[in-house]
Amino acid sequence: MRFSYIDIHSHTNFAAFDNDRAEATQRAYEAGVALINVGTQQDTSRAAIEIAEQYENGVYAAVGLHPIHTAKSFHDEEELGENGKEFTSRGEGFDYEYYKKLALHPKVVAIGECGLDYYRHDTNTRMSANDANKKQEEAFRKQIELANEVRKPLMLHIRQAYQEAHALLKTAAKVPGNLHFFAGTVEDAKKFLELGYSFSFTGVVTFTHDYDEVVRYLPLERIMSETDCPYVAPVPFRGKRNEPAYVVEVVKKIAEIRNEDHESVRVQLLKNAEQFFGLQGF
Ligand SMILES: [Zn+2]
Repeated sequence: MRFSYIDIHSHTNFAAFDNDRAEATQRAYEAGVALINVGTQQDTSRAAIEIAEQYENGVYAAVGLHPIHTAKSFHDEEELGENGKEFTSRGEGFDYEYYKKLALHPKVVAIGECGLDYYRHDTNTRMSANDANKKQEEAFRKQIELANEVRKPLMLHIRQAYQEAHALLKTAAKVPGNLHFFAGTVEDAKKFLELGYSFSFTGVVTFTHDYDEVVRYLPLERIMSETDCPYVAPVPFRGKRNEPAYVVEVVKKIAEIRNEDHESVRVQLLKNAEQFFGLQGF
């Protein structure tokens, strides 16, 4: 089977898809959309692999620990469901051996989402911002080390910490990285371009002009498409739960913003993902 689009950052492994996970994947298949489900902690990482195992091709996984889950964090019903409350009240330390086992699975194409998020500090914990940052940095370093060891690229979640992340990655990472949901400036983008990194955009590009400048600035060869579903559904699905099939709208909009032909953008974005993640059976 040959796919026409790819959603390189989705979460059908989250609780938001408990009632129709197979149907959502089927809709993606029918729309010609391949996908990578991204883990955010141990359970969602394992679930991403379990989903990928059910499909011969076109469904892949990334495994890692999201920076906000390194400490007590906001509980998101859509991510972990009712049962995840206990987890978010304690957070998770990065268990290298546990993730290494997952990372070696043939369906796993990246390590993450990992990174630094200095925006969503938990205000309910007694932990100072400084201590929280240290915890994030420690988990991030270990995940960079794991990516280096298993030679798989990094799926990066960076928020209000582009400089700090850049400094760390520049010295520690020996594999390429993708900046998921890139929300930095053109200046930030330049620094990561120099490292050879790529950038992915979600449905937010369909309803705000905040990303237009950077979407136009980047070489097309460094752009990839994602939904980050169940969050941020693109126009015309705003207000609904997002899903991988809607990535088609993101690709259309990227072409429109760049004033380029949809077909050539579609083909290039697909090729970018295939090369970046070394996708097999795609
Ligand atoms: Zn995500």
